[in-house]
Amino acid sequence: MDVHNVELVMSAVAPAQYPTDGIPEIALSGRSNVGKSSLINTLINRKSYARTSSQPGKTQTLNFYNVEQELFFVDVPGYGYAKVSKTERAKWGQMIETYLAERTTLRGVISLVDARHEPTKLDVQMVDFLHYYDIPVLVVATKSDKISRGKWNQHESIIRRSLSLTPEDDFVLFSAQDKSGKEEIWQWIEKHAGL
Ligand code: GDP
Repeated sequence: MDVHNVELVMSAVAPAQYPTDGIPEIALSGRSNVGKSSLINTLINRKSYARTSSQPGKTQTLNFYNVEQELFFVDVPGYGYAKVSKTERAKWGQMIETYLAERTTLRGVISLVDARHEPTKLDVQMVDFLHYYDIPVLVVATKSDKISRGKWNQHESIIRRSLSLTPEDDFVLFSAQDKSGKEEIWQWIEKHAGL
């Protein structure tokens, strides 16, 4: 999609605040610092529209970005942030679960992992959860510029295996630096959002 217009329309903590436009939604999730804001900014051709790097103490909200009035990107707050208290983490979990399990306009989730490392326990939990609810998932392995191309296949196999991905689960290596993978990710989004 050729993106010119993007607007952050809502930062929501509860279903009553979700937009009511009824247009398709694609959510993006991943642990803090995985490169989620950088991916969103790349997809919408902006340098710093989505905030980069999660700030401690900041309210954890679901951010709805209206893209060309055709779909929402839903930025799911990063998980695994060490300084967040247990109570806050539980609240976070509940908010995300409610959204993912009940949102009828949700068409798919882009689950981000770091291309360099084995997925974390929380990465595994997130993908298990998406499988359980039968939500289409695209795993995007970020920061691919930090590994040599010769090693891409090896890293893909390790990530696919540890996340128990099925052949139906799509996987893309992405770099915000050289933008590789961007087109493939857009194709997945357009297909699942029915654009
Ligand atoms: P978020 O917390 O998941 O939103 O992560 P950010 O997008 O803020 O990125 C976290 C850090 O990783 C920042 O310092 C980014 O510059 C860096 N980063 C993000 N994506 C890439 C990438 O594709 N390649 C490289 N080399 N660095 C990246």
